[in-house]
Amino acid sequence: MNAKQIAANKDAFGIAGQVAVVTGASSGLGRACAILLGCGGAKVVVNHLPTSAEAAAKVCEEIESVGGEAFPYAADVSDEDQVAAMFSDSVARFGTLHILVNNAGIQDGARFQDMTLAQWRKVIDVNLTGMFLCSREAIREFLRRGPQPEVSRATGKIICMSSVHQVIPWAFEVNYAASKGGVNLLMQSLAQEFAPHKIRVNAVAPGAIPTRINRSARETEEATGNLLSLIPYGRVGEPADIAHAVLWLASDRSDYMNGTTMFVDGGMSTFPAFRGAG
Ligand code: NAD
Repeated sequence: MNAKQIAANKDAFGIAGQVAVVTGASSGLGRACAILLGCGGAKVVVNHLPTSAEAAAKVCEEIESVGGEAFPYAADVSDEDQVAAMFSDSVARFGTLHILVNNAGIQDGARFQDMTLAQWRKVIDVNLTGMFLCSREAIREFLRRGPQPEVSRATGKIICMSSVHQVIPWAFEVNYAASKGGVNLLMQSLAQEFAPHKIRVNAVAPGAIPTRINRSARETEEATGNLLSLIPYGRVGEPADIAHAVLWLASDRSDYMNGTTMFVDGGMSTFPAFRGAG
């Protein structure tokens, strides 16, 4: 189903009227998730960096064009005060929060011996600390509001955008791989701590989806060929592949999923280099 078909059948997804914050939603996977959740009838806060205001406004327009509600919010997810302001302003506007998609992320790789502390910290700050700060605000709001069984079986849902690199080591991208490994245990520990409150926390681990973050992996034919050799299913992913998994995890259809990572990667995490070896 594409976004328009989802918008025409929004009641089938069971998230209509719920409030969602999607971080890093002006581009790539976050944009696709925000649009699909908006088409499903969620009211969406489209988080973005100040430099991406125009793109974020377009995402909101796209949601509004199918009758949805959205507003853009500039905030750096690694900044405690900006994150707190974003969540309190979102709750002031929409009344509460039901869904958080922790999507914002960056890469800044280097040979390990050349990696600066600033590079290490920046990636950990955005990819891991950003998820800590946003999840903490979301959980505070879920606990404050309490259950709303007429809206959702879960009191709140958090979906973390992880990566196949939460399990696949990644030379020259040590800060990124470490951040995503951290996301996995952040997600699982939160799931364990808050399950008694009916708060579900899961992750999606994409393989290779062409977006800004991985431009260099497609710069030459050779690079594209190398990338495809890592994907048994024989194609790179599309943002919609990821957004559909997020939509499902946000809905009651996945109500018994908690503390789990869905790998959406065309089989990349099956270590295809071992096919026929050994
Ligand atoms: P992208 O660069 O298009 O999206 C990342 C978004 O995060 C951008 O909109 C960027 O402006 C935003 N962002 C960066 N720093 C921010 C900050 N401090 N505060 C708020 N927003 C910030 O790339 P993408 O591929 O869509 O990446 C989205 C997520 O998916 C990331 O967490 C990435 O690690 C993950 N991921 C992507 C792939 C892939 O193949 N594209 C694979 C695995 C995981």
